[in-house]
Amino acid sequence: MRRPEGCAGGGAGTVTRRIVLATHNPHKVAEFAAIVAATRPDLEVVGYDGPEPVEDGVTFAANALIKARAAAAHTGLPALADDSGICVDVLGGSPGVFSAYWAGHRKDAGANLALLLDQLSDIADPHRTAQFVSTIALVTPEGAEHVVEGIWPGRLATSASGAGGFGYDPIFLPDGQDRTAAELSPGEKNAASHRARAFAALVPLLSEV
Ligand code: IMP
Repeated sequence: MRRPEGCAGGGAGTVTRRIVLATHNPHKVAEFAAIVAATRPDLEVVGYDGPEPVEDGVTFAANALIKARAAAAHTGLPALADDSGICVDVLGGSPGVFSAYWAGHRKDAGANLALLLDQLSDIADPHRTAQFVSTIALVTPEGAEHVVEGIWPGRLATSASGAGGFGYDPIFLPDGQDRTAAELSPGEKNAASHRARAFAALVPLLSEV
């Protein structure tokens, strides 16, 4: 088991602690690193390259905890893990925890998005409400565990537009926007997203790190 390296000392703005982010999704690492840098410049977010646990939870919180516990145990660092997805009201909250695999186990983002659009093809705008949900677990090597949640409300467009972001971004119109999440700049998305909101809830808990 690897142990955290010593803290690099320094004044305000220098990195003093490392925290591992238990995801192999480079988009999420970039989003998290930008959000953390804006709020806690003393924390360096490092990626996780250890063994991946089986994500067999049926809630976002259960899966986030499974991933964070595995990363904390393997690295000896405080670990963050996010489990997220899109919850469509008219589908009773689905795809939810199945967001990444909605069109099957190929984990094909284009196919997932196309299937969701097809399922809602007869649904009128007032009933196309949906939320992105991000649940973040923080697990310390000492065994402290916290779970926070962020919700980004919006609705589903009838066709995809925009080239930014990932996953369902091209069909998600955040409340108050006439552009999809894929048409927002990374800065605009990071300021408003479900992950940003979950992270805002997490910041007070990072004092444990
Ligand atoms: P996770 O990596 O297990 O959290 O999978 C979440 C899935 O939800 C992703 O594969 C995407 O399909 C979707 N998702 C989560 N966050 C976002 C987002 O910010 N934009 C678009 N899709 C997202």
